[in-house]
Amino acid sequence: MKVMNTFKNSKRMVVKIGSSLLTNRKGNINKSVLKNVVSDVSTLLKKNKEIILVSSGAISLGKGKLKLNKKLSLNESQAVAATGQIELMSSWQKEFCKHNIVVAQLLLSPSDAENKKSSTNAIATIENLLNFKCMPIINENDTTSTDEIKFGDNDILAAQIARLIKADHLILLSNVDGLYKEPPINNKEAVLISEVESITNDIHAMAGTASKLGKGGMISKIKAAEICMKSNCSVIITSGQKQNPIMSLSKISTKATRFSARK
Ligand code: GLU
Repeated sequence: MKVMNTFKNSKRMVVKIGSSLLTNRKGNINKSVLKNVVSDVSTLLKKNKEIILVSSGAISLGKGKLKLNKKLSLNESQAVAATGQIELMSSWQKEFCKHNIVVAQLLLSPSDAENKKSSTNAIATIENLLNFKCMPIINENDTTSTDEIKFGDNDILAAQIARLIKADHLILLSNVDGLYKEPPINNKEAVLISEVESITNDIHAMAGTASKLGKGGMISKIKAAEICMKSNCSVIITSGQKQNPIMSLSKISTKATRFSARK
């Protein structure tokens, strides 16, 4: 598996952390995930890698803060995200502060990536934050946009950002180790695909099966991989539940699926 070359060759990575990984059902931050991601990012920054985080979790944290146990309408979710976003950024800020890293919040929507003026401004902002050695943390602007609330959990947004800023890697931290040939729930024999060189109908079919069983939102991850691979950006799906979720990708034994960019 080529995953072990990730850090040697990579200069700029987008790392995406989804709500179901970063928060629990009660609407609290999963502190060990937060701590582990920040620790790895800090290590990578010291190695002069450029990192951009894409983090969801605003709705989940907002529900927890407002003690809402019901299923929310789309508009209610947008409102709840407005309060949860503060909790989300506050959690990232506190953890990064322990490593003397200053964070910056960016709220974007997938349509910003398609609009020339918005995308030019977004790229310039991110480039300047990287020059200032700030940690850009991006979420969808849930007040004006609902794309990622309805589908994707920021996978597509992260891919659009990776494409815009010419990242060489997009790392999708998930609750699963990667793309399996068949659903891995209660199936120890399920085979993990370690390397994908092109996205075929078979790959789409595997993602479809996995998602129907509620295991992982693989369909949006495959779409994200399609966007990135066309822009010479490789995508890695791996579990964010382990101690060094990003750094462990340099070990050959780490379970992950890598979608290799076309050369
Ligand atoms: N922007 C949303 C959030 O932060 C993403 C959608 C989701 O994770 O459900 O909650």
